[in-house]
Amino acid sequence: MKQKGEKRRFGSSEDDKRSSFKRRRPQEEEEETDRRTPQKKKKEEPGRSSIKTSSLFKHNPDIPQISRPAVSQVKEEIFTSDSFSDFELHAHLVATLNKVLNISRVTSVQKQTIPVLLSGRDAVVRSQTGSGKTLSYAIPVVQSLQALQPKVSRSDGPLAVVIVPTRELAQQTFQTFQKLLKPFTSIVPGVLMGGEKRKSEKARLRKGINILISTPGRLVDHIKHTLCIAFSAVRWLVLDEADRTLDLGFEKDLTVILNSLNATGPSRQNVLLSATLTNGVTRLGDICLRDPVSIHASGSASSDLVTPADRSATGQSESFAVPEALNQFVVVVPSKIRLVCLAAFILDKCQFARDNKLIVFVSSCEVAEFLRSIFSSVLAGPSTNRKPRLSFLRLHGNMKQEERSEVFQQFSAASSGVLICTDVAARGLDLPGVTWIVQYTPPTAAAEYVHRVGRTARIGGRGSSLIFLAPTETAFVNELANHNISLSEMKLLDILSSLMMDDAYKGRGKYHSQDQETRERATVLQTDLENFVHSDVRSVQTAKRALQSFLRAYAAYPAHLKHIFHIRFLHLGHTAKSFGLRDAPAGLSAATGPSEPKNPKKKRNQNQNQKSPVKSQGRDKRFLPGQRERRLFHSEFSSGLEGRDAKTKKKKKKKKKELGQSGEEEE
Ligand code: ADP
Ligand code: MG
Repeated sequence: MKQKGEKRRFGSSEDDKRSSFKRRRPQEEEEETDRRTPQKKKKEEPGRSSIKTSSLFKHNPDIPQISRPAVSQVKEEIFTSDSFSDFELHAHLVATLNKVLNISRVTSVQKQTIPVLLSGRDAVVRSQTGSGKTLSYAIPVVQSLQALQPKVSRSDGPLAVVIVPTRELAQQTFQTFQKLLKPFTSIVPGVLMGGEKRKSEKARLRKGINILISTPGRLVDHIKHTLCIAFSAVRWLVLDEADRTLDLGFEKDLTVILNSLNATGPSRQNVLLSATLTNGVTRLGDICLRDPVSIHASGSASSDLVTPADRSATGQSESFAVPEALNQFVVVVPSKIRLVCLAAFILDKCQFARDNKLIVFVSSCEVAEFLRSIFSSVLAGPSTNRKPRLSFLRLHGNMKQEERSEVFQQFSAASSGVLICTDVAARGLDLPGVTWIVQYTPPTAAAEYVHRVGRTARIGGRGSSLIFLAPTETAFVNELANHNISLSEMKLLDILSSLMMDDAYKGRGKYHSQDQETRERATVLQTDLENFVHSDVRSVQTAKRALQSFLRAYAAYPAHLKHIFHIRFLHLGHTAKSFGLRDAPAGLSAATGPSEPKNPKKKRNQNQNQKSPVKSQGRDKRFLPGQRERRLFHSEFSSGLEGRDAKTKKKKKKKKKELGQSGEEEE
């Protein structure tokens, strides 16, 4: 157990500068707590601090019962008893798989996909996260290229093009190819991704890359601006995370890529893969596939595609398979208590228990920045001989590429710690040893839920996940059930009760029950968090920015989920508290979010009757969800070339002599 007062010493590095705030006991600050009698409260009032916080456990909406619809989860066996020597592969390739990658048994998806691709067919491949899809296409690509006569050389240019949605996944896929190609040195893999220097990529392209792995935006950029990129010899096109790479945000880029490939290429094999690939994929998917074999790891390969029309006729939603050894939980948390609940959960897994590695998903870059900053200061604790300081990292689309790569490497190598990230890390990443996935803000689709939780319990390993839902959002459990995903409920007070492990959170006074003491300790921690936020102007600004961006992202949920996630259902004052803000900020302008009523009396009344959601449909429009959605998307999955485009845009605008804010646009 931690020594009392140990937590007061805030860490080293940049956080030291910000640790000037003094911790206050909640009794000094709380307007009221549940156990106080009115008389007692009156007596204490004059001597108390002028800073007030509203009670964390009052005026919250009731926590509804969560229904657990019966679902039969889709099961997929990961491994088969086959070995790689059962395929017709080059002996050196089999040896590399065994000795360099240390793998011997073939997974189900590999068993089904490798022969289909070796036979020259196109394929649409769907299998659960972490089941080995990368090798299921990478092995046939390498096998086919090494067999070419005359032997492949750099000057042949791209023979295989692999498109993935994010830079980290591009890097990871490139590393897999590097390993596989160890015995075949004449075949050169290369990666193009946003954030890298275009000039050096251009030079590498000129020298010759045979297996080209790229994010869509960056490849389009090179198609448009790099003369030496020629696709005349391309024999393979792979779209990994195809439901993402083919979806709305990337459609324009993919069209350019497909046009460019189709213009010159010989007959080409095409492969689409994802854990959440629906059979109909998209119009673009249909264009690039030639009589594909549909492979579902949960069933067998077939040439008969079920069309989306068939499915809607039967009223079915697509079922998604999730790893069998994944324990999925949901906790229903009123907005006010969200931040402290997350903090208690992290303390439980990373301070009071050991060797946990957590990924926390949030809806925007600003929220990721905010949480990392506050938790690094308030939760990280000091480093001692027995235990290093708890590490909090963040990963999102607004970071410089060097920093992004560094964080990715650091978290990959770490045996414990917390990564707070946006959906930029939701797809495809194979981060070893992740034990918990926390979805602090719910995803925008059931498919994204599947990819987020898929960062744990990979390749037969164990893992757990927890999704936070507000009382108004519990219908998301049914939405997941429609896709055959079933969750168990974790109780809010059980999570908060982990604070009983550390007397640094002990309140003052006697308690009638453990629940009451748990609430008091949560209030102490919430006060710590609020004190940090209000310790200087900069951290208040960070919290406000995070709140604004959270609201914007909330307004951008797709139409079919608006009955669950609607900005009207949010209570602004309570939501502000989950950003450590004591009051809902006034002056969230039309451009940045809803504003609270100017009259404080009115505001108090609203707080009390709990019916002050961010009102009116009209306001919702001010968030311009369509634009925002696009903006979020592009900042998260950008090529890193926005600066250049912004300059071009500026010039254009100057020409037109138009004034106004320029939106972030296509890469
Ligand atoms: P997916 O794309 O299905 O999410 P990945 O291709 O990222 O899965 O593979 C997940 C992990 O499993 C990777 O670390 C990979 O090296 C490993 N892996 C792949 N195939 C095998 C296998 N046959 N045996 C053991 N591990 C494997
Ligand atoms: Mg993958």
